Amino acid sequence: MTLTPLGLGRPASVTDAFLQQLVSRVPGSSGETWKLTEVYTGDVLVELPQSTADDIERAFAAAREAQRKWAATPVKQRLAVFRRAHALFVEHARTVADLIQVESGKNRRMAIEETCDPPMVMSHYLKRAARLLAPVKRGGPVPMLTTSTEVRLPKGVVGIIAPWNFPFATGVSDAVPALMAGNAVVLKPDNKTALSPLYGVRLLEEAGLPEGLFQVVCGEGPDVGPPLIDRADYVMFTGSTATGRVIGERAGRNLIGCCLELGGKNPMIVLEDADFSQAVPGAVFGAFGNTGQICMHIERIYLPESRYDEFKTAFVAAAAALDVRAAYDFGPDMGSLVSVDHMRRVKSHVDDAVAKGATVLHGGKPRPDLGPAFFEPTILEGVTTDMLCGVTETFGPVVALHKYRTVDEAVALANDTDYGLNASVWSGDVVAGCALAARIESGNVNVNDVLATAYAAKGTPSGGVKNSGVGARHGDQGLLKYTDVQNLAVLKKQVMGPRPGQGYEKYVESMLSGLKLMRKLRIR
Ligand code: NAD
Repeated sequence: MTLTPLGLGRPASVTDAFLQQLVSRVPGSSGETWKLTEVYTGDVLVELPQSTADDIERAFAAAREAQRKWAATPVKQRLAVFRRAHALFVEHARTVADLIQVESGKNRRMAIEETCDPPMVMSHYLKRAARLLAPVKRGGPVPMLTTSTEVRLPKGVVGIIAPWNFPFATGVSDAVPALMAGNAVVLKPDNKTALSPLYGVRLLEEAGLPEGLFQVVCGEGPDVGPPLIDRADYVMFTGSTATGRVIGERAGRNLIGCCLELGGKNPMIVLEDADFSQAVPGAVFGAFGNTGQICMHIERIYLPESRYDEFKTAFVAAAAALDVRAAYDFGPDMGSLVSVDHMRRVKSHVDDAVAKGATVLHGGKPRPDLGPAFFEPTILEGVTTDMLCGVTETFGPVVALHKYRTVDEAVALANDTDYGLNASVWSGDVVAGCALAARIESGNVNVNDVLATAYAAKGTPSGGVKNSGVGARHGDQGLLKYTDVQNLAVLKKQVMGPRPGQGYEKYVESMLSGLKLMRKLRIR
């Protein structure tokens, strides 16, 4: 165990040999590398190879070859791999959490929660995939004489581009339904957080996933993105709205489908009858969980005037009580931001708000004494739409409190954004909470929770509206999006057109009465 400047030992599983082994699967023919660092200390963990356009081309060629055999493997056999993988992922959750923590700097509680995501996705689709992929007989245009069957075919090779905030979940979970459907995957994780997804691929292979089927290429987005998208048959992207537009444009030009899971500026509305013993801890997790780096996290809280001060006092006290520090155990409530660059971006949002008149109720500053990228949990008041953090996603532990006079005003304020990813509503009356949820322009709304209930519900599609995305993950569409539909139509006997000796007028008459009869008998 190496002792770091903070006196913090690196997790025992994270040895140099293990890291070398993990990155050795990344193609990097130019010899160029990226220094992947331990966030808590800034120490270099490993030199991550950077893939060239030629490397990416070769990764796609290998993936395509493996995909042909995989697509021809019966679904039952394909799913057996994920049954074994589920057990392996649970067994090695602690090692995964070690990797997630060293590369992202998040606290251990969030890291271990993240490890649960791929097994949950596997569990869901192990129940559902065989049925979704089975051919469905739809019936043809002429009863008895024709059939039409909906056949699901894999797209081919799916390109996945993943962010750093949940590197293991977004890198592996989105690949699971793609692979189950018979596709190969080429994943580009963020350079900062390539270790945990690389370990996920290794575990999948240990479970029996054919070698070559799941490729990982690494590099800066603008370098790797174009060659990857140009060779992919479908793109699954998770990241910022700005990058999502670039990906969507390129996918559109190439006439391939894409799913874009983008940013949010997520509101929480607290109704007058809400139970604050639940809503305040909920808001603490919503604002500061994963150090505020969850796409569905809360950046705006709308409170009834009558209970504003009560909430503010309790919320500020709860934020002040948070244990924020670097540790590889379950102690801290909050860890670091992912990088010094990101910390500076978060700081710039707070500085801009303060310069334009916002008040800091708690926090507001970097904490270099805790680690290079630490930032305090921060609560602001008086944030307006002329401030950066009033309109754009901060993606850090920064939240603004706002007052509302009427529920209509709260809904209007919550909807006054270009984003539409997640929202949270708190009420003592679940029916009233759900009625309010229906008025919010958002792909996900959690009643009496902030985000986990919606995200963990793997049977329901989850995606953003407005500028927060296109398409969804989870649910049936989370797997079907990775397939093409073939309409397999069979004509058993030629009946279209006049019979020998039948005039066209007669034929048309019988065809039209046939249409009427079919409608009457409710035949499609
Ligand atoms: P980002 O858009 O900067 O990067 C995401 C990924 O795209 C990275 O792998 C990056 O290297 C790559 N990339 C960057 N530019 C590219 C380009 N021109 N072509 C191809 N790839 C490129 O986002 P980020 O800062 O890594 O992640 C944070 C963002 O992700 C936040 O906005 C957050 O809300 C969003 N996010 C959304 C969801 C969701 O499900 N909606 C989940 C997690 C994160």
